[in-house]
Parts: sequence; C-alpha cells; structure tokens
Amino acid sequence: MSLIDYKAARKRMVDGQIAIRGITSPDVLKAFLEVPRHHFVPKTQQVHAYQDSPLPIGLGQTISQPYIAAYMTDILQLTGDERVLEIGTGSGYQAAILGMLADEIHTIERHPFLADKAARLLQSLGYSNVRVHEGDGTQGLPEFAPFQAIMVTAAAPEVPTPLLDQLGDGGRLVMPVGGRGGQVLLLYRRDGDEFHREDMVPVAFVPLIGEHGWEGE
Ligand code: SAM
Repeated sequence: MSLIDYKAARKRMVDGQIAIRGITSPDVLKAFLEVPRHHFVPKTQQVHAYQDSPLPIGLGQTISQPYIAAYMTDILQLTGDERVLEIGTGSGYQAAILGMLADEIHTIERHPFLADKAARLLQSLGYSNVRVHEGDGTQGLPEFAPFQAIMVTAAAPEVPTPLLDQLGDGGRLVMPVGGRGGQVLLLYRRDGDEFHREDMVPVAFVPLIGEHGWEGE
C-alpha cells in the first residue's frame, strides 16, 4: 500500500492550483479530481505527480502543468457528446481528462514508445473511449474528421492547416503557437469557412515535430 494519500493530493491540486486560478466548470474540476495523475508519470516522479509544474515522462517529453492542462480543457467548453482530437498523447493524462468530458477521443503521438505505453495504461485504467494513434499529428486524422474540438499539446510556428480543415463547424481548437522558447496559447473558433482567433496566455511547450510543424529534434 502507498504511503501517499493521492486522493487528498488531487483535492489539494484542484483547490490550490486550478479552482483558485479561476477554473469554475464543475465537470472540468471533477475530471481533475478523479483522473489518477500519479499513474501517468514515471515511478520516480510519482511523489511529485500533484505538484504545480510539468514533469518529465521520458524521451525529453513532459506531462503538462495541471493548471495549463485544466485551462486548455476548460476553453474547449466540452458538453459531453463531442469527437475530440488531441495531438501529443505523451503520458495519456490529458487524453484521460478529455475522455471524461467528451464522447470519443482520438489522440496522436509521434514516439512509438510513448504511444504504446499510453495506450496500454489508458486501457488498463478503463478509458475505453480514448483511442491512441501513432504517427505525425500535424496531419490530423482525416478518416475520423470532423472533430468538434482539437487540442494540440506541443508548439509550432503556426497551426497546421490540416487541423483547421478537420475542425467541424462551430468547433474549437486550442494550441500553443510561437517560437521554440515560448509561445502564446491560441483559441480558434470555426464559423463556416471563417476562423476567429483569440490570443489567450503565454506558455512554454515542447516542439510539435512533423510535416506541418518543426523539423527534427
Ligand atoms: N498531453 C500530454 C500529456 O498529457 O502527457 C503531454 C504532451 S507533451 C507536452 C507533447 C507531446 O507531443 C510529446 O509526447 C511529443 O512526443 C508529442 N509530439 C510532438 N510532435 C508530434 C507530432 N507531430 N505528432 C504527434 N505527437 C507529437
């Protein structure tokens, strides 16, 4: 048995990092209260799983800071019946959160090791509406489009056009856009053939590497 009370740690994370900074959606707060973040980090990081920071998950990649994950989730304004695309599965944590708030989640990861590990973990924890795909997420998943919401959890100089193409009418896309050192979180809303863009908050994400992102590591 673990000596750490993870449930209490999650409650402290939600109250002291997420709700206190202005996230009020009961559904979003409930998802962060319930998804066991400590399962999504390496064993050596489990003691830090609920702290207010990103954490390493191997291969130079990270699981995002809880508040940023909550903020990005919140602005998608999910109601429960959406088909959602996430680019950058990483640990699978964000996909699990999305799985609690929408109907069908597709998440793409370019590192086969991370994709495989996340897929097995999500399955073992019972997130049966989350499907992990291995590949270059900058191309999206045309075979499952349109998506009512798209979340990109890695940064590029601009939003990949295939992702805008695959966003459904009335849909929302959130993504960090900018240079390798720092970016702005952008929210796009699709209205027919028009896209309304809003600049949200400054962020620092790992690079989105692929045909419509950065080249190489
Ligand atoms: N959402 C993740 C989580 O909850 O753990 C954190 C994502 S991490 C900040 C960014 C991820 O994007 C990394 O795992 C990285 O390998 C992945 N990535 C980068 N470029 C990609 C691409 N073109 N397609 C798919 N995944 C990509």
